[in-house]
Amino acid sequence: MIKPDAVEANNIGPILAMMTEAGFKIVALKYTKLSAEQAGKFYAVHSERPFYGELVEFMSRGPIVAAILEKDNAVEDFRKLIGATNPAQAEEGTIRKRFAKSIGENAVHGSDSDENAQIEGDFFFSQLERF
Ligand code: ATP
Ligand code: MG
Repeated sequence: MIKPDAVEANNIGPILAMMTEAGFKIVALKYTKLSAEQAGKFYAVHSERPFYGELVEFMSRGPIVAAILEKDNAVEDFRKLIGATNPAQAEEGTIRKRFAKSIGENAVHGSDSDENAQIEGDFFFSQLERF
């Protein structure tokens, strides 16, 4: 997912380019906006964390780009491409190093397991929207 901060900063194009240049195939793509309720559900695993309210507010404040990306070893390789949660710790050449402003507003989301990638893909896309 390309988060609201990166959409606001007009960075959809360069972020998608970094994904495709890194060898990810776009299987599904959508420009949409999450309600607070949907954002809360998407990040429900963090509901007990102190930053949850802030996270829900941020993720629902403007449009996002959702995508299903395909590649061998996709989850691990995508996490490497996006970089550390805190952009101050993200390596050179990562999406967060280049585009993220803070630990909260960090430009992109990546699934953390094949199982969650399945769940999150189903959250945004029907079978008819996948190619
Ligand atoms: P994501 O799940 O969005 O790919 P991540 O897996 O790198 O990020 P998580 O630990 O899953 O990191 O946290 C989810 C999101 O919650 C972060 O990307 C960030 O937007 C927000 N977040 C995490 N830690 C903090 C924090 N300490 N303060 C504010 N927001 C935070
Ligand atoms: Mg995460």
